[in-house]
Amino acid sequence: MVLEVSQIHTYYGSSHVLQGVSLSVAEGEVVCLLGRNGAGKTTTLRTIMGLAPPRSGSVKARGREIGGLPPHAIARLGIGFVPEDRRVYPDLTVRENLLVVHRRGDGAGRAWTVDRVYELFPVLARLDSHKGGYLSGGEQQMLTIGRTLMTNPRILLLDEPAEGLSPLVVQALAEQIMRLKREGMTILLSEQNLRFATHLSDRAYVIEKGTIRYEGTVAEFEQNEAVRHRYLMV
Ligand code: ATP
Repeated sequence: MVLEVSQIHTYYGSSHVLQGVSLSVAEGEVVCLLGRNGAGKTTTLRTIMGLAPPRSGSVKARGREIGGLPPHAIARLGIGFVPEDRRVYPDLTVRENLLVVHRRGDGAGRAWTVDRVYELFPVLARLDSHKGGYLSGGEQQMLTIGRTLMTNPRILLLDEPAEGLSPLVVQALAEQIMRLKREGMTILLSEQNLRFATHLSDRAYVIEKGTIRYEGTVAEFEQNEAVRHRYLMV
């Protein structure tokens, strides 16, 4: 397993948010974490990344325990996090936004360059010298993903990438993520947009109140109307 989360408990102050979450992602897999607002999706990704360290439980990346390590050390071990808020540097150009985080990977796979990011997201190539602050929501999302790719991660954590984007942009983003998947990227994404998430994913987990309520292949999940209705209200 590239990523193995076992029985994590995470608190915000005295609020017990994640209550024994376990999930795993294998090499080359795309796995989605589905759940309503406030279910604990963001907290799960932030816990993996070390931004909301777990009080107990284990997080392993390629067999190595990373629970309790600081976020920069976790990033260096090949975990790339794309947060929900898409914070690009507004005064830097698109190219500068990409170059500012560039880090050599561990040598596995083909390294990411500005040109390779532009090949994946042609819209960014056209905006090369534009300031980040002037981009649309969809362009900012692509830039945030591109910026994380520039760190040459082995696994990508995407927090609600489709949120707030128009259907056309969501469709383009889905195709780009599919392409990343075909190139062998391992991805864990949190989503509320079911169609987008299930289209891309091999397996799905459903989280509610900080607890995993369901796990299965996407094909099984799509057959399971009861789970969708009960935890996702669709
Ligand atoms: P969303 O789609 O709204 O991001 P989510 O499934 O990602 O939802 P989380 O953001 O992980 O959910 O939130 C899980 C719970 O933790 C919620 O009840 C939320 O109110 C609470 N929570 C989140 N961040 C904090 C914080 N910084 N301090 C205290 N409680 C928080």
